[in-house]
Amino acid sequence: MRFPLALTTKIAKHIVGHRLRGTPKFAMVLQLEPLHTCNLTCTGCGRIREYSTSLKDMVPLEQCLAAAAECNAPMVSVCGGEPLIYPKIEELVAGLREQGRIIYICTNGVFMRKKMREYMAAHYGPSLEPQLVQLVKEGLVTEKEADVIRKPDEAARKKVTIGPSKWHYWNVHVDGLEYTHDLIVEREGVFKECVAAIKMAKILGYQVATNTTVYRETDPGELEDMFRFLSSLECDGHTISPGYDYDAAKKDMVKRLGRDPKEFFLTRELTRQKFKDIERWGQMFTIFGTPVYQEFLAGKRELTCTAWAIPTYNVRGWKAPCYLMTDGHYPTYQEMLDKVAWDKYGVVDGVARDSRCENCMVHCGYDPSGALSNKPRDTWLNFKYNFLPRPAPIPSTPELAVKAFNGASIGKGHLAEAKAAVSKELGGAKSVYQRNGHHDHAGTDAGSAPTQRDELLQKIREGQKIEVKSE
Ligand code: SF4
Ligand code: SF4
Repeated sequence: MRFPLALTTKIAKHIVGHRLRGTPKFAMVLQLEPLHTCNLTCTGCGRIREYSTSLKDMVPLEQCLAAAAECNAPMVSVCGGEPLIYPKIEELVAGLREQGRIIYICTNGVFMRKKMREYMAAHYGPSLEPQLVQLVKEGLVTEKEADVIRKPDEAARKKVTIGPSKWHYWNVHVDGLEYTHDLIVEREGVFKECVAAIKMAKILGYQVATNTTVYRETDPGELEDMFRFLSSLECDGHTISPGYDYDAAKKDMVKRLGRDPKEFFLTRELTRQKFKDIERWGQMFTIFGTPVYQEFLAGKRELTCTAWAIPTYNVRGWKAPCYLMTDGHYPTYQEMLDKVAWDKYGVVDGVARDSRCENCMVHCGYDPSGALSNKPRDTWLNFKYNFLPRPAPIPSTPELAVKAFNGASIGKGHLAEAKAAVSKELGGAKSVYQRNGHHDHAGTDAGSAPTQRDELLQKIREGQKIEVKSE
């Protein structure tokens, strides 16, 4: 099975129960953002730009748990910001488990190893020693860290920690192989840290998923290589969604540069091109999400947005209408359901009800539409997809690793190349930056449009230091 039986059963019961009761709208996944503080500043991240990232602005633990209880979604995706910075993250995961929920901890991976060392210290005993020896042998834990784990002080022993469980997943943000991922998160070494964290988690018996956002400059061939590599690490599943820019930035760029939006953003047409192989990937890799949503992404059918099924709760309340767009915040989920004019959003039969929805195909709007479809064919497709055996992991090979570590590890990280470009005043600069707008794989030429590369170069010119810290 793609998903453990107990988890699949829980979700199926939730849907069937609501259908029998005739509930018109209900939550499937809660996107819980306890804070918006983050240790990274990824290109294009709306959260750290839309909300306060001050540590003072956090949702108290009790309020997070109350929000989960109120909407009663069987799955909670704890995101942010970086949720591992939330001071009560362990208590939050424990509280959500007490409520019987399936939990995804969406993380950029940088603090994962620290959290797992804390778990090991709190539970250290003879049964953990073989894993600890293996972790040291593989360079995932240092000798010094192993000593601390073996001799925890009173506080470390008593600490609430996040241990392995079939009910929760580390959900690690990975947007490509090393070169691309580090470019997008704007920091060298993050991909390498994510891979180390995934390996450590698998040795300790955690469930690990990854989540990937596809941008206009994403190369589908690279995505397939990325899934191969992640499969060789024995990841338990992957979510993938088109990224989508819909806001003022789009209008501003179009107005200022007088260019066609298609040159900058993922349109529906471009999304379908990028996702044309999604169904094949679904057979090769443990892609989460429904096959119905995959058909939608591949351009084989239309779906109607059901953003109410994946509500977002954060420091300002229930965010409406969806994870991406903010037209208001409400104090309760029910009030949001009642007061939002849901029929004003989404795309129906190819016509956008709201112009901002025009090119949106994101999973938080449309994946639940696939899961909630009551057409017999769709139900059968979803059942088959989830109940058939999950694809076997791809064997790990040196070739896969060489392909994966194509950036900072070989001394050609994005900063190194960007610096080279700066010193040559951009003359002859080659590489990934060229496809970030100037000559991308879609064959367009965006001329002098500002791109990720330009922003990055600007930062380097300003002398900003970017370095990775593992804790
Ligand atoms: S890690 Fe996530 S929250 Fe942090 S900057 Fe990147 S996308 Fe935003
Ligand atoms: S289609 Fe749905 S998920 Fe997408 S922007 Fe519109 S309301 Fe949000």
